[in-house]
Amino acid sequence: MEPDSVKYIFVTGGVTSSLGKGIVASSLGMLLQSRGYSVTIQKLDPYLNVDPGTLNPYEHGECYVTEDGAETDLDLGHYERFLNHPTSQGNSVTTGRIYQTVIEKERRGDYLGKTVQIIPHITNEIKRRIKLLGNSGEFDIVITEIGGTVGDIESLPFIESVRQMTWDLGEKNSMVIHLTLIPYLAASGELKTKPTQHSVRSLMESGIRADVLVTRTEYHLPKDVKEKLALFCNVKKGNVIESIDADSIYEVPLLLHDQKFDEVVLRTLDLPYDKAPELDSWINFVDKFKNPAHQIEIALVGKYVSLQDSYKSIAEALVHAGASTDTGVKIRWVYSGDITPENVDSMLSGVDGILIAPGFGDRGIDGKITAANYVRRNKIPTFGICLGMQIMVIEFARNVLGLKDADTLEINSHTTNPVINLMEAQKNITSKGGTMRLGNWKCQIKKDSKAFEIYKKETIQERHRHRYEFNNDYLDDFEKNNFEAVGKNPDTGLVEIMEYKEQPFYLGVQFHPEYRSTVVSPHPLFVSFVEAALNQKQNKKIHATGKKG
Ligand code: GLN
Repeated sequence: MEPDSVKYIFVTGGVTSSLGKGIVASSLGMLLQSRGYSVTIQKLDPYLNVDPGTLNPYEHGECYVTEDGAETDLDLGHYERFLNHPTSQGNSVTTGRIYQTVIEKERRGDYLGKTVQIIPHITNEIKRRIKLLGNSGEFDIVITEIGGTVGDIESLPFIESVRQMTWDLGEKNSMVIHLTLIPYLAASGELKTKPTQHSVRSLMESGIRADVLVTRTEYHLPKDVKEKLALFCNVKKGNVIESIDADSIYEVPLLLHDQKFDEVVLRTLDLPYDKAPELDSWINFVDKFKNPAHQIEIALVGKYVSLQDSYKSIAEALVHAGASTDTGVKIRWVYSGDITPENVDSMLSGVDGILIAPGFGDRGIDGKITAANYVRRNKIPTFGICLGMQIMVIEFARNVLGLKDADTLEINSHTTNPVINLMEAQKNITSKGGTMRLGNWKCQIKKDSKAFEIYKKETIQERHRHRYEFNNDYLDDFEKNNFEAVGKNPDTGLVEIMEYKEQPFYLGVQFHPEYRSTVVSPHPLFVSFVEAALNQKQNKKIHATGKKG
């Protein structure tokens, strides 16, 4: 697509935060894609962190990682899961990143002695970052989601940049979708439009007129409420779209499509909309997800379970794998800090598989090791991701190899058996932002392995986010005891996949397969894990009843 003909859609939010702009943007992207357009989605975040990599998951949910190693907001995960297309560094921009670029330029003398100001220097940098995606030639449509809520001090430069860009591009080349909340007052039984009116007014004070309103609501909006909203918010009559609370995020695009949301958008952008969207496989996925033939329970053992958004991509990858195997996956969220040798049996009783989560720092580590020991001894399908794999290694070293003080140097710098070591390349790094081993790295898989059976190829690429690694000095001991490194980085020998040969599924990976799982393309490791858990459950039944059922 020639840069001049790229269309830009801006998604803003009003009334409250957490309305799900990311899901609405992803849903729209998916619908436009299903009509044959190539689409990408970008997130502008108004905080001063240069990227979300340094944010505590308790505060902001999971940190998502792109193929090219950007540490991003979790919304990028939704974009990829809905669009089945990788995002990149350019899709995630924070205020911190914008200021960093402008200040570096100022220090280099690029501004030739001019006074550097929010307008035009910061806004120009924001506009440059938005246009970068459009200029790539890859996309017909760029959707830019503006984080935060209209009226916040911190999003003002973003909003001003949107104003300038829409003015520059003109009507049919750009548009603004504003997402708000229509609260329901139970006492009077009314849906209230006033907060939305105020929010649209606040947008107008910044010089931006919304083309389409998407309203989050618990109840369907009657026709007269929609008309009132259109009249007082100055949008066309058909351009008020309700986004009613749905059972699952994956139903949102279908609900929006039923109201012709994608058609309204294409009409506003003067793009053809005669090609009907191809939604059959999506509808089929939603149907399988909602009405699965089988049901399993997986324990997700981690330390951030009180905010489930911390494990967003893992939970969604289980949904995708479940739908593709006709299996409903219930997650039992288990806080690893609560697990002790005395209670592990009751905390994990009845689960069909466990997933040992990624993480950092020492809290909850003992509980994870206890859990790994319990599931290995009880032959429960186990999947360890990043720190999860490292935990499986430590447990095995302690209880099978007899290395009682085996540990990771992340937790215990004095251990005489550092089975998990700091990577060589990490030893002199002190700065925290963007300095881990990030993004896609190659992994070579041994042919005679479960991993090869799963991937069906020898060389794969997966995304990473870690500083520590398996210590290859111990590999012989592990392999003599059937815990094998079946996947390694071909250039460095770094262990990527560990697999315990004595069980159907006891597998740990140093990378993060969850980032690559999408609705259209569920991740094969998650699919295989779900299948193993389902087998486990069915075998248990056979043992209990003496027959399959
Ligand atoms: N803390 C571990 C490391 O840095 C694991 C990281 C993770 O689980 N993402 O290697």
